[in-house]
Amino acid sequence: MNKTAYVGIAVGASCFVLLVLAVIWWKRSSKHNKRKDKDFQGMELRTISFSFKQLKSATRNFSVANKIGEGGFGPVYKGMLSDGTVVAVKQLSSESRQGNREFLNEVGVISCLQHPNLVKLHGCCIEGDQLMLVYEYLENNSLSNALFGLNKSKLMLDWPTRFKICIGIARGLAFLHEESRLKIVHRDIKATNVLLDKDLNPKIADFGLARLHEDDQTHVSTRVAGTIGYMAPEYALWGFLSDKADVYSFGVLALEIVSGKNNTSYIPRDNCICLLDWACQLQKSRNYEELFDEKLGSDINKEEAEIMVKIALLCTNGSPSIRPIMSEVVSMLEGQTCVPEIDPEAGGYTDDLRFKAMRDFREDKYKKNSRSQHSTSAQTDPLFSVSSYDHSEIEPVETR
Ligand code: ATP
Repeated sequence: MNKTAYVGIAVGASCFVLLVLAVIWWKRSSKHNKRKDKDFQGMELRTISFSFKQLKSATRNFSVANKIGEGGFGPVYKGMLSDGTVVAVKQLSSESRQGNREFLNEVGVISCLQHPNLVKLHGCCIEGDQLMLVYEYLENNSLSNALFGLNKSKLMLDWPTRFKICIGIARGLAFLHEESRLKIVHRDIKATNVLLDKDLNPKIADFGLARLHEDDQTHVSTRVAGTIGYMAPEYALWGFLSDKADVYSFGVLALEIVSGKNNTSYIPRDNCICLLDWACQLQKSRNYEELFDEKLGSDINKEEAEIMVKIALLCTNGSPSIRPIMSEVVSMLEGQTCVPEIDPEAGGYTDDLRFKAMRDFREDKYKKNSRSQHSTSAQTDPLFSVSSYDHSEIEPVETR
């Protein structure tokens, strides 16, 4: 065979291989799209549908300059619609852990609900493999950013603003649990899921995990999802889901607002696993003031702050039946009813199931850390290691 024949065979073989690869890729992607289409078939989405082109031009071709954040769902862009409305566009990334189910959940749930303390969904885009959610744009980012962000993004929230934020979140939850046509458990109440508008009014966001709550029924879930540190023990450990799981998360959040500290990453003392554990210990001596954010100085209404701590402790009670419902929380915060005095629970994180998930997580992380450092310290008491852990490394973990 001459040289030309060899070249011919090589080119032919390469083309054949490329063709086979192209067919495999096309089959796979059409199967993926069919599956996506099937997910949305028969769904009558009661919301405005935007075209990909509209959102592309609103976000200047999804430019980096317009990107305002990134969550488990994918990137979020600031955009302006042709009528001048400023929006936040959440794009479902193909690697999203959260996926179609949460997209549909979010659209289905939030498009039926309207309340001043819930983020407003303007509409969505379902085109080919593009899935996007279009929300009202909230100027002041998340509550988490305001409380725990880096210096430049951190806001100095004064006391009246913190109190207003706490009441707003409570009102939003009371609406979801008790007032809306559909009774809803949010399942992922935390500081990153509360956004702040230009006047620092709080809006509950992220309904991807929300569940309809049938009257007086405690749902047993096989798929527990939420964030360690905010999850109620009965839900985290046994999957029992009711609106009281949100009440628990709200309690944790209220403590974070008063103290300006993150429940999970803040380790106050050697014998405390988290902020809530510390608050439970202070409750025994009724020494609530130690919890108040020192940054507030004298700019704090001690009476209101104490009420907030007491409500937070009531909401985070280990027993769901002792926790109040959210409309009761609103009326306590507004001063219409008194906060009932309850006996402090038997403390100590070693025997308290409320801290089991966090303790397990910390021990696990500690063991991994020790193994990777090939250090002999792995044999030391893991509970001691919790308090000597580098705080900055402990991030809230989501279980989805
Ligand atoms: P996760 O998805 O894991 O719960 P997250 O809540 O931070 O995390 P997203 O809801 O996707 O994730 O939001 C990511 C970031 O985008 C937010 O922290 C916020 O800075 C910004 N963002 C989201 N929605 C809006 C909005 N409506 N207006 C303004 N900024 C927003």
